Amino acid sequence: MPWEAFTVESFGQSLAEVAAVVFFFVVGGNIGSFLNVVAHRVPLGMSVVFGGSRCPACGQAIRPRDNLPVLGWLLLQGRCRDCLVPIPVRYPFVEAVAAVLIGSVAAVEILSGGYTLPLGNEVAQGRWWRGVDELLFHPNGRLLAICLLHVTGLATLLAWALLEYDQQRLPRRWSVLVGLTLPVLSLLWPWLQPAVAVPPVVLEGALGSLSPGQAAGLTSLLGLLAGWLLGSLLRAAGYAGPFLAGGLALVGGLCGWQAVMTVSLIGLFLSCCRCGGASICRRTIGRTGIHARRLTMVDVLVAFTLQLLGWRWLAAGTGKLISEAVAAVTS
Ligand SMILES: [Zn+2]
Repeated sequence: MPWEAFTVESFGQSLAEVAAVVFFFVVGGNIGSFLNVVAHRVPLGMSVVFGGSRCPACGQAIRPRDNLPVLGWLLLQGRCRDCLVPIPVRYPFVEAVAAVLIGSVAAVEILSGGYTLPLGNEVAQGRWWRGVDELLFHPNGRLLAICLLHVTGLATLLAWALLEYDQQRLPRRWSVLVGLTLPVLSLLWPWLQPAVAVPPVVLEGALGSLSPGQAAGLTSLLGLLAGWLLGSLLRAAGYAGPFLAGGLALVGGLCGWQAVMTVSLIGLFLSCCRCGGASICRRTIGRTGIHARRLTMVDVLVAFTLQLLGWRWLAAGTGKLISEAVAAVTS
């Protein structure tokens, strides 16, 4: 019986794990708070690093206690403390979305000891839920680095989703930075790239033997190209906005071309649900952008979160499909 195993020690352990999960959600909420600033300042050409948060209406600096994600807005009852101008509900909404998406990916990846990463990766330990003890007493630096990279990817996609929603342009410098950084990171530290672009046997047959760094860099580069190409094709066909090529390239650079395919399919499914839902309640949603029949960055963001949470199983499924296809062609 489960309750027979219940002791004071196990209760303390569960409490520590709940605290760790809450910690990751708070970090996610704070990242969302920062992204609100990014989405406000980038189109105006302002620095996102220098200068504290100010009320756009009266210019008063926002006090640290009012700047708490979601809670700050609730305690202020949605109004500026100084001038009482309403603060748009979008701010706490973005913070809540960031808390849930980034918090769940960080909590699952770190507390499970990398269980959700594709099998065969040296960082993935293959044991479900290693818990908070592992995190505190035997922290796995490589796993923390992989998680940091994924969180940065999610935050970038969320920032781009906000810019797309505001009908802004994707800053070219930002997309070039992503395109250059991801393959170089994989080349230098191959364990950052848990995906495999092609089965190693096929790769060695075609290109001779590659070092792990070269193989990981190639995986990242192929993923970037696949994402950019598919995003550009979908945009040309009228199914996507100008951000999709960059968004899918980011997904491919982080998780390989297979993830571009699964994220696009999940995203298209989500966009159909969104369109269906929005056409039912069309009268309550004023903004037309929500029920546009296109693959938006919001769909990509949610699909990428699901991809990261289910990567191990999605990679196994696509790997099986690819090996069956290769066997069918070669036989
Ligand atoms: Zn104000």
